Amino acid sequence: MHCTHCHHVMHKERLPAYAYDLSGLSNVVVHNVEQFQCPSCSGKAVTFHAIEALHHALARALITKETRLTAQEVRFLREHLEMTNQAFARALGVTEHQSSRWMSGAPMNSSAEHLLRLLVASRVGLAMVKRAVAVVSQGIREGQSKLDARRHGKEWMVQVSELG
Ligand SMILES: [Zn+2]
Repeated sequence: MHCTHCHHVMHKERLPAYAYDLSGLSNVVVHNVEQFQCPSCSGKAVTFHAIEALHHALARALITKETRLTAQEVRFLREHLEMTNQAFARALGVTEHQSSRWMSGAPMNSSAEHLLRLLVASRVGLAMVKRAVAVVSQGIREGQSKLDARRHGKEWMVQVSELG
């Protein structure tokens, strides 16, 4: 791999943990990723394999976690659904203004959050819908969570840690 700035050959190293905030989520750590570093201009590039599969795994983890979705997570799921704010608001039966407020941090009411989780789950399949229903039926509590993503062959596994 060559540096996009100065075209030097880049050095490869493995990062045990990489904060994947480019996803729009500040609570995602991807483990054991390859990073390329330019010896000349200190440019850096991180490569993931199967990034789409990673995003699917993150979405599945979010809709089955036991704590409330954050504004960042709601936005991530909206983007995962490939919906405009308008389409998203319509699907959840609220105004665009309300939907925008969620993205900027206003708390989502729990029925809208349940519906969002089931909407994402419905794209995966019935088994995922059942899992999401089981989780939301138990009640979702307040709290922060951390997502740890690791690759296993062609699959990504995402482990959710509830931070209280
Ligand atoms: Zn360079």
